[in-house]
Amino acid sequence: MGLFYGLVPGLWGGFALRPLTLMTNHRPPGPRAARPRLVLPRCSNYMDNARFSPRISHTVQRMNYFAQTRWGGSENLPDENRMREILAELEKSDPEHPDTWLTHESGWTLSVYESGLVIFENMESGEEPRHQLGVSREKALELWLKLSRGEIAAINQEPWRAGQAPARGAEEREEIIRKSEAVTLALDREFYDRLAPERTTVHCRHAGCQKGAIPNSVFCRVHHFENIRHRPCPFHD
Ligand SMILES: [Zn+2]
Repeated sequence: MGLFYGLVPGLWGGFALRPLTLMTNHRPPGPRAARPRLVLPRCSNYMDNARFSPRISHTVQRMNYFAQTRWGGSENLPDENRMREILAELEKSDPEHPDTWLTHESGWTLSVYESGLVIFENMESGEEPRHQLGVSREKALELWLKLSRGEIAAINQEPWRAGQAPARGAEEREEIIRKSEAVTLALDREFYDRLAPERTTVHCRHAGCQKGAIPNSVFCRVHHFENIRHRPCPFHD
């Protein structure tokens, strides 16, 4: 089993060697709540411990990253195919669990969100987090693979923007655009509704238009709208 082991307080005092997944597989309550920390004990601590077994020692040496899946807790050393599956879970919308992340033993974590937001941060070093928007899943996979190999310098070459974008920034922006479009549409409708009925005696001057022109205009309602607003008329009634 590829588990992380660490020293945790034992039941009867002292410390016991336990799989660290027990400490990391709960979800934080909010999208940007503190990440469960990857507690990789120093090897010397292990060697000093009488209960430390060679079998576990072998395991400890090769485990150096884990993924936190959206719904299934943490998984140690996922391979490329498994990473792809974990990222594919982001295709389903779940605002309560908007992201999944990969943490390397260096403390660096790459969180990938449904929205395409990716945050690169190191909870241990306290360095300023950085982020990118609109990252494709394929690109996210590439970043995860680099992080799993500890290629921190290569990841830092990416066009990161400073800070931790709000987890739902992209969603909120979409919402603002939606509302703004709704307001525009309502104003357009109001304008359109105020246009007087088209005349039967005067034709719209727009080429090929069979409708009549409204009073005080050479155009029908639709073409008058487009002439004034300089964009297509969303109404045709
Ligand atoms: Zn017309």
